[in-house]
Amino acid sequence: MQIVVEGRPMVARPLYSREQIENRVATLAAQINRESDAEACLTVLIVLHGAFLFAADLVRGLAMPTLIETIRLRSYHGTQSSGVIEAVTPLPADLKGKDVLIVEDIVDTGKSLAYLRQALEKAQVARVRVACLLDKPDAHDPALTPEYVGFSIGKNFVIGYGLDLDGKYRNLPYVAELVPQTNSPA
Ligand code: 5GP
Ligand code: MG
Repeated sequence: MQIVVEGRPMVARPLYSREQIENRVATLAAQINRESDAEACLTVLIVLHGAFLFAADLVRGLAMPTLIETIRLRSYHGTQSSGVIEAVTPLPADLKGKDVLIVEDIVDTGKSLAYLRQALEKAQVARVRVACLLDKPDAHDPALTPEYVGFSIGKNFVIGYGLDLDGKYRNLPYVAELVPQTNSPA
């Protein structure tokens, strides 16, 4: 698939297939189940829109009772982070004393997560853990690495399985990375 980003022709190269994602998400859900109280309610805070598919698959593998909440953050314009995090919707009410699992699509600079962790701390939650489908460890402080990571990847911009490029491609059932198109010699 060819995609033009800021005038440059790019190719979306498949990185993780639907099946690889499905297997990894099931493993993550099993790990979260092992490390959680089976009887206590877990508040799952889904970061929209990017995490909608990951969260939908992940929560169906969770065994404890859950409350599903969402928040919408915005930080990106095109393939570049604006660096400024904006909460487009308010933090859910009554989080005090709750066990919260943040579900994110990808951790890049870690700014969104730092913002959310701080907001949750202020709301006096009892415990916060983070599950992300993808992590770019080279782009952030190791201290910001989530407890549950689907796949660690390089710095290339990725799309699919919830992740977008200017709002598009979220529906791809796989994850692809955008790489510059190299023209083969004629
Ligand atoms: P951070 O605050 O960690 O820099 O970035 C967090 C958000 O930026 C992610 O939740 C995601 O929405 C977006 N983002 C970061 N890297 C990528 C990427 O490679 N592809 C896409 N589609 N979004 C990204
Ligand atoms: Mg996101």
